[in-house]
Amino acid sequence: MTLDDFFSPDYATARRKFLSAAAEAGLAVVTHTHPLTGPHGETLALDLVALCPDKAAPCRAERVFVAMSATHGVEGFVGAAAQTAWLKRGHWQRVPKGMGVLLLHAVNPHGFAHLRRVTEDNVDLNRNFADFTKPLPRKPAYDDLAEAICPKDWTDAALTAAEEKLSAFAQQHGQRALHRAIMGGQYTHPTGVFYGGTKPTWSRETIMKILSAYCAEAKHVALLDFHTGLGDFGAGVNYCVGEEGSAGVVRAHEVWGDDVTILASTPGSGGHDGYNLTGIARLMADKAVYGNTLEFGTYPTPVMIRALRADNWLHLHGDLNSDQGRAIKAEIKRVFYPETSEDWKARTLARCLSVWERGLQGLARL
Ligand SMILES: [Zn+2]
Repeated sequence: MTLDDFFSPDYATARRKFLSAAAEAGLAVVTHTHPLTGPHGETLALDLVALCPDKAAPCRAERVFVAMSATHGVEGFVGAAAQTAWLKRGHWQRVPKGMGVLLLHAVNPHGFAHLRRVTEDNVDLNRNFADFTKPLPRKPAYDDLAEAICPKDWTDAALTAAEEKLSAFAQQHGQRALHRAIMGGQYTHPTGVFYGGTKPTWSRETIMKILSAYCAEAKHVALLDFHTGLGDFGAGVNYCVGEEGSAGVVRAHEVWGDDVTILASTPGSGGHDGYNLTGIARLMADKAVYGNTLEFGTYPTPVMIRALRADNWLHLHGDLNSDQGRAIKAEIKRVFYPETSEDWKARTLARCLSVWERGLQGLARL
């Protein structure tokens, strides 16, 4: 088998490969069809493959391992490749006894198909797991910078003015503070970037419907969510969001040992509010939940942020069928999926499968 058996140039191909890998393995797929379609009218869906002890449907296992791809749409290429490889290479035949494994293929299929990081409603699914019954966090730094982050015109003159404002902020508060202000998540600018929404999206609702059904009898649930775009090219960091010593972080160490990097998050301070794995743990508070994000580096963060801002502008004000529109779409795909680098694909796939395997074994030992 080659990398091309697992990696795909677009969502529709990734879906086809995943469905055919499941069929070859003789495993059933439960399809949750999305209400909208892809750029060529293709079906969009969250496809679930569930391996449950005694072939029960849904699972009645006490320990369930969940592998999710495409939380951030366009970042889905690696996670989808890992899920397909896990099936095609027969890893599914070596699941520890008594354990359930759920493969959630393309949890944000609209973003994946349309090469966007957000869902169909411009929501960042990884900021959408906020508790919407409570007041949402305020982000004054984002408010101040909103027009510079998302200028109405994407011309040299407009961008120069915007960059001056962003640079002034970075000079005063530091580059990291600027990245935090932009990426920390915000709930006041529905057409902006890193917007968490005002209610659960289709993707959040569908994920929770699946987890409620298939983890109903679980005591331990470990989640692995694949992402790209932050970090050194091809390197994969296994992140757990939380404070050192907190229950979630201690649990992550129990499953993954020392292969865990803690991403500190303080509510309201510009940290990752509405983070999906933290939200799932809150929504399944009767279970021990171990949620990790495996994040693969691509290009420098400012390059990635610029591509996201351009994509945001394009979908609000631009023309997808113009030269500029096509260039912006090619760039957002490149910064999250360096598909011409065989080395990047080989390294990221190997790392996905090894972290997945270590997580399964760790969960089985608890
Ligand atoms: Zn991501």
